[in-house]
Amino acid sequence: MSDDKERLDRVRVPEMEEILGEALPVLDDGFVRLIDYMGTDDSIVQAARVSYGKGTRTMSDDRGLIRYLMRHRHTTPFEMCEIKLHVRVPMDLWRQWIRHRTANVNELSTRYSIAIDQARTTRPDEWRLQSDINRQGSEGGVDVETGQRLTRRETEAQSFLKEIYEERLELGVAREQARKDLPLSTYTEAYWKIDLHNLLHFLALRMDDKAQLEIRQYASIIGEKIVSKWVPMAWEAFMDYRYGSIILSRDEIRILSLINRQQAAADKMLSETGFTIKDASEVKPTLEGRELAAKLERLGVEVPWKGKG
Ligand SMILES: Cc1cc2nc3c(=O)[nH]c(=O)nc-3n(C[C@H](O)[C@H](O)[C@H](O)COP(=O)(O)OP(=O)(O)OC[C@H]3O[C@@H](n4cnc5c(N)ncnc54)[C@H](O)[C@@H]3O)c2cc1C
Repeated sequence: MSDDKERLDRVRVPEMEEILGEALPVLDDGFVRLIDYMGTDDSIVQAARVSYGKGTRTMSDDRGLIRYLMRHRHTTPFEMCEIKLHVRVPMDLWRQWIRHRTANVNELSTRYSIAIDQARTTRPDEWRLQSDINRQGSEGGVDVETGQRLTRRETEAQSFLKEIYEERLELGVAREQARKDLPLSTYTEAYWKIDLHNLLHFLALRMDDKAQLEIRQYASIIGEKIVSKWVPMAWEAFMDYRYGSIILSRDEIRILSLINRQQAAADKMLSETGFTIKDASEVKPTLEGRELAAKLERLGVEVPWKGKG
């Protein structure tokens, strides 16, 4: 046995060391703060090489290997990296965030401590209108006068509910009961630890334009300001093969192969597979049809039912 035992140091990423502990602002009073991280792009490569052995020797390029793993959904090497964040988030967004069960979480207890004395406020130009086509989404904004009124009413409501909470505390009511009428706009704080594979899943869902604008802002900060510095190769592969990619169903591939070649067959299939419906004499897309149209536009393919009578 050799006496010359190698002592290994922890891996560090200089760009991550620079932002360690810094609160990156989100919304009016929220933040994301990097507390700690484990692993780098190298850890992903190292794990894959242990796992696949000789097979990966031919893939000498680390970037190529990471891209291969991401492309083929070989996920466990990405679990070798972990990150711990301290986040300050309004309760309504936290309710969405906490649905991601694969993280380890410790949240501020408003039974034990007094609730954070800050609620998310909305500027007059930030009020969005309900979307007509997407029940979960918003579209456009309210007019200036309405925006001002909504912000004024928000301030009144938040001050009133804060006053009620403080009054209960002053009268000796238990914190666990006094908090019950605090608004969902009240900020909470948590420590959130997750591995890279599950973090990328979170980012794919929460950076997507179908996610609520405010949670998208958190996800974008985590992705662009933290993950892109931490594991640049994995981030690039994620943006290429997951976030920026398009998934095509079997029917969509068949339709795509017919469009502009055998248009009548494409139209028939669009209707038979539920992408379009005929309303009076007009051909209209269904929800899935509108989603297909968005994919076709990205692919530069003309949407087949446009302008059809
Ligand atoms: C735009 C959008 C709209 C949404 N709307 C609604 C809504 O209206 N109502 C609602 O209730 N939710 C809604 N959600 C929440 C959504 O359904 C998921 O609960 C949430 O996004 C967490 O996703 P996940 O389970 O994949 O993530 P995680 O909990 O992080 O899990 C990651 C993956 O691990 C696996 N996994 C984790 N736990 C288990 C388990 N116990 N059993 C099996 N597999 C597991 C699954 O493969 C899962 O995909 C919405 C989410 C988004 C992004």
